[in-house]
Amino acid sequence: MMAEKKLKVLGLTGMPAFSPSVDGTLISPAAFGDCSDNIAVLPGFCDVHVHFREPGFSYKETISSGSLAAARGGYTIVCTMPNLDPVPDSPEHLETQLKIIKNDAVIGVLPYGAITVGERGEALADLEGMAENVVAFSDDGRGVQDENMMRQAMLTAKSLGRVIVAHCEDNSLLHGGYIHDGAYAKAHGHRGICSKSEWKPIERDIALSRETGCAYHVCHISTKESVELIRQAKKDGVDVTCETAPHYLVMDEGDLKEDGRFKMNPPLRSKEDREALIEGVRDGTIDMIATDHAPHSAEEKSRGLEKSAFGIVGIETAFPILYTKLVKTGVITMDRLLELLTVNPRKRFNIPYSPDDYSVWDLDQEFTVDPEQFLSKGKATPFEGWKLSGVCLMTVKDGKIVYQKN
Ligand SMILES: [Zn+2]
Repeated sequence: MMAEKKLKVLGLTGMPAFSPSVDGTLISPAAFGDCSDNIAVLPGFCDVHVHFREPGFSYKETISSGSLAAARGGYTIVCTMPNLDPVPDSPEHLETQLKIIKNDAVIGVLPYGAITVGERGEALADLEGMAENVVAFSDDGRGVQDENMMRQAMLTAKSLGRVIVAHCEDNSLLHGGYIHDGAYAKAHGHRGICSKSEWKPIERDIALSRETGCAYHVCHISTKESVELIRQAKKDGVDVTCETAPHYLVMDEGDLKEDGRFKMNPPLRSKEDREALIEGVRDGTIDMIATDHAPHSAEEKSRGLEKSAFGIVGIETAFPILYTKLVKTGVITMDRLLELLTVNPRKRFNIPYSPDDYSVWDLDQEFTVDPEQFLSKGKATPFEGWKLSGVCLMTVKDGKIVYQKN
């Protein structure tokens, strides 16, 4: 006789308890056939930073392929960045994207509105006109270079009760760089991106947030200076939160190879930066982990470190990476990981939590990362070939199965 498998339902502090069911019927471990005894039901993850590329760049990803990939990663809500064509900078442009989401998304997809027209940094977008249909405002992909433009954006966002979400990058400090300005770049003759190009705008924006009272969230922080600035700002009572991405926590410039799948913006930094980010995750300075899932075509990622497009996919590997490398090794607890992936993003962006949104994982099942198995159109990942634990068996959104492992 085989022992009956038990299903662990991992609830969350401060969130309603839930009973995992599909179409009103409680799910049973027996439904999952051949798997380990360590099966867990986790509340649906929420990723506040993805690029689903539609409208405008559907050869890289679509709302359909991106949301299916997200479901396979255990996500039930994602927020899409506005570097699209048309850029959602007015209600009319936003409508193009909203229609596709309505027809094609298999999970919750909440768009960002742009901060400036065309993300060009020259004129404020119609924040008020878009407010009720966007999660927040961001010019992700580019930094808002002009201080006064950012001040106006913060004042307007504050009056609308919305968060300003900033990709922090000072263009005057880039000098054509494309990987971290560190040991690897020097040894291999590459042009580097200095850490200051990230932390300098964060320093500016923290002062603006303090001045205007606007809620401010920093995208994908990658440097130790960024962690320290945000840690201090929180102590000073500034309304600031931030995210980092899985790759910055488990990789650094020592892992770089001469291959476009190691190229993203911001770049993989030094070991000291990675360790500072982990400390930030542990002490609460870093509020959430977002993937910055940024798919491109195979050709766009085939041109090496210098010439490939910036961006890697990450939504199908985020949980197994974080579970294997941070939870199983004892760096953080599973509770803390669930705060970072589900609780804090929803709290910051006022996204409701539904007990009918969850995923089921075989936590002990091992697998090797094989991009050919991704549902995303993007296949470029620095984790190719990594051996990880944690396989998603099923994802349920609004009580309906949206992904099931076959
Ligand atoms: Zn960005």
